[in-house]
Amino acid sequence: MASPTPLPGLLDIAPYAGGEAEIEGFDKVIKLASNEGAFGPSPKVRAVLEAALDNFHRYPDGDCTKIREAIADKYGYPVQNIMCGAGSDELIGLIARCYAAAGDEIITCAHGFAMYPIYVKQVGADLVVAPETNITVNVDAILERVSARTKVVFVANPNNPTGTYIPKSEVVRLRTGLPDHVLLVLDGAYSEFVDRDDYTNGAEMVAASDNVVMLRTFSKIYGMGGLRLGWAYCPDEVADVINKTRSPFNVSYPAQIAGLAALEDDAFLEHARAHNIQWRQWTSDEVKKLGLEVPDSVCNFVLVWFPDEPGRSAEDANQHLKSRGIIARRMAGYGLPDALRISIGLEDEMRAVVAALEEFTGRNDTGTG
Ligand SMILES: *Cc1c(COP(=O)(O)O)cnc(C)c1O
Repeated sequence: MASPTPLPGLLDIAPYAGGEAEIEGFDKVIKLASNEGAFGPSPKVRAVLEAALDNFHRYPDGDCTKIREAIADKYGYPVQNIMCGAGSDELIGLIARCYAAAGDEIITCAHGFAMYPIYVKQVGADLVVAPETNITVNVDAILERVSARTKVVFVANPNNPTGTYIPKSEVVRLRTGLPDHVLLVLDGAYSEFVDRDDYTNGAEMVAASDNVVMLRTFSKIYGMGGLRLGWAYCPDEVADVINKTRSPFNVSYPAQIAGLAALEDDAFLEHARAHNIQWRQWTSDEVKKLGLEVPDSVCNFVLVWFPDEPGRSAEDANQHLKSRGIIARRMAGYGLPDALRISIGLEDEMRAVVAALEEFTGRNDTGTG
């Protein structure tokens, strides 16, 4: 009997595996696996959600009017160029689907965000992977891989899971070097965490061209990953195409009102940013003192490298952290089998991680001198 057949390639997709949330035997874990924002949402977000329970049976505003206006006002962008999605993930998927198909190519970077390849396969396009240099985006490697079939380039800047970024001069060189028909998607999921003068999220390039999109999310610094709200600042035509192809009520009512409240709480944002800078630095310094390598990160997580040796490896470290109730993220799926990614959480959580890694490295030193 013939069964329904999905499009070619779809069954080959390995589904995205999110960070774990539980450890057997622990009622409460320290979850530092998904870069979720140390504080959770602003108290103002909690308040509007509680007050809104009476409206949960109503459909949301399908056009996301208020939240789009609030974003446009806050940053000074034209409202018609803001599109919202159920997380920036949805927007990544829509862009891939609207701009590429079988026979086309989409370029991503070697250690880029894991959802890009999934969406590329979903639309049947060919994935072209540009190598990185020192786990940092290499603009020349991207430009060398452009062909007449290239439709989209996805670059997270700064990048997850590496935590590194390329400066404005490099982003400009990338756009300038790409043919006009190639859409450059700059994913700024972590842009609020960056504290470097030479950084750009690319918004000025969106304003000045018709082939750059900037993506942002409420999932990271705003601590609203569970609500699913992301947005794109995009050229007129891209906005139009996303608007025509999204599902009619793609952003839930709670997500819309939570986003509005979050945007109004600048003090919360500043607090989260300052906390992250302080504890990212502290965590990096303390972990380095244990003899482990920690590349500079401008995000709300750090990568920690472990030696590829029995008893001392990233997987051994991961198991040790788990035995202490701490969930970090293995990076084998990102081509970084010797690294763990650890999100920056609350002060006591970071102290617990460092203490557990101290035990781990100390344990391994015992007996080996
Ligand atoms: C977390 C993340 C996203 C997705 O965020 P959502 O808005 O929750 O879908 C997008 N890009 C990168 C690089 C991320 O790390």
